[in-house]
Amino acid sequence: MKTQYTLGRSPENDIVVDEPVVGRKHLSVIFKSESELIIEDLDSNNYTYVNDLRIRKKSIAPDDKISLGPYVIDTRYLFSEIGKKVKESRTDFNDEFKQLKKVYEDYEKKVNDSRSRSQILPMTIRTLITLFVMGAAFFIISDPQIRYPVMTAAGLLGGIISIVLQRDSKLKDRIDILTAELEMVYKCPKCGKSLISRRWQHWAAKKECENCGARWVN
Ligand SMILES: [Zn+2]
Repeated sequence: MKTQYTLGRSPENDIVVDEPVVGRKHLSVIFKSESELIIEDLDSNNYTYVNDLRIRKKSIAPDDKISLGPYVIDTRYLFSEIGKKVKESRTDFNDEFKQLKKVYEDYEKKVNDSRSRSQILPMTIRTLITLFVMGAAFFIISDPQIRYPVMTAAGLLGGIISIVLQRDSKLKDRIDILTAELEMVYKCPKCGKSLISRRWQHWAAKKECENCGARWVN
């Protein structure tokens, strides 16, 4: 995280103040907190003043009056610009988010595997019942008026049984456990806001955390 910045007239400064009375590199600015910066005059020709007193190096608050020679800088603007730069410097969470992508893809794969495994048994039972009843009806019932309705009913019965079996409570438990495990780690890498409400693709498209501004896709 970068905390030290320069301010001056020259374009190579972090904060450029294009005023003739401001030195090429007038000030060094160190970020301490949202409400405290330390400024240091870098041997400027017109000097630096805090609340009309000339300073060399001083801690400042957002309501202090800062003058670069005769030019009064908007102190709140200075705090806001430095605040933004500090945030930018520590919000690249691309690597962490790549890890999250892997975690999320593992989760979806496990859920899909569980789902398809839970469907094999009902499908098999359905097929066996249907074939058995249809076969029995075909060979045992000679009257076509009865035979064909029974065979149709067998098909329906198989369908109903497979639907009942698919409401597999073990599957739901398994998915609940997988989701709880995901929830432990599926969070914004910076502020910890849970991302569980949406799929990874949704957050990837957002490109940053809406809560803290952490950027995760360059
Ligand atoms: Zn965040």
